[in-house]
Amino acid sequence: MILDGKAVSEKRLEILKERIEESGLYPRLATVIVGEDPGSKLYVRMKHRACERVGIGSIGVELPEGTTTKEVLEAVGRLNSDPDINGILVQLPLPAQIDTTRVIDAVAPGKDVDGFHPYNLGRLLAGDPVFAPCTPQGIMTILEEYRIPVSGARAVVVGRSIDVGRPMAALFLNADATVTICHSKTKNIEDETRNADILVSAVGRLRFIRPEMVKTGATVIDVGINYDEQGKLHGDVDFEGVRERAGAITPVPGGVGPMTIATLMENTFKAARLEACYNGTVL
Ligand code: NAP
Repeated sequence: MILDGKAVSEKRLEILKERIEESGLYPRLATVIVGEDPGSKLYVRMKHRACERVGIGSIGVELPEGTTTKEVLEAVGRLNSDPDINGILVQLPLPAQIDTTRVIDAVAPGKDVDGFHPYNLGRLLAGDPVFAPCTPQGIMTILEEYRIPVSGARAVVVGRSIDVGRPMAALFLNADATVTICHSKTKNIEDETRNADILVSAVGRLRFIRPEMVKTGATVIDVGINYDEQGKLHGDVDFEGVRERAGAITPVPGGVGPMTIATLMENTFKAARLEACYNGTVL
């Protein structure tokens, strides 16, 4: 079975659009981008387009390549105190001169729709998340939509980054899976991956997951974004080989990627609802 993340994201965005209309709220997302990286600019444009589609207002703060940490912190500070902004997304990676950790820590936790602030990561680890990072949360949505059981499953996550691997493992644990996290120092990684009922690869290496690393019938989720010599986009998984063994598999493109953006929209609406709750105005 091919897990069609594009179709799931379309469905979720349509539902979200209706929910936003019904709520009477007008959520607003601010994006912050530093420099001219074409990939980052493309992602930010896609996020703004998704906002427009579902009825979320969006503003873009664009800062030049040479911007200092202090200047980014000031921009984030202005958005934190702007009552018209519900969600703040700082597009990563930031240029090398900027202290990314300080910037992430500066985003108000209630507006941290990316879920990278230590408060939100802590809530996630405590089993009581407010905003979970969009990529792993989007993966949970795909599994839910295709009714793939997580409770009791052996979930193996390859990669331990803050944006994917670690929060993915926490979400699996919160959903009662038995979780293993692998990384570059893991010995005999195939002994771990072959045990997986659900295998998530977030490494960033072409053809990293080969068929012999996958248990027959497993669900394989490919987070990787890699380009081959011809400039063609692939994930981490040897898709043609692994699909013969897997029970279910996400393609690249059209798998995890679209779910990341749909989840960002859902998180932004959640931020607006939570704020409305605190203000006592709606809900
Ligand atoms: P990252 O921060 O570079 O982390 C990569 C992880 O892979 C690290 O934990 C690293 O281990 C591990 N790793 C590297 N080589 C390995 C090896 N030989 N064996 C086992 N583990 C190894 O990357 P990321 O931000 O998590 O992203 C991972 C991939 O997903 C990238 O291709 C990225 O572009 C893509 N991505 C896609 C989306 C989406 O929406 N589709 C979103 C985010 C990221 P160590 O910790 O030991 O170094």
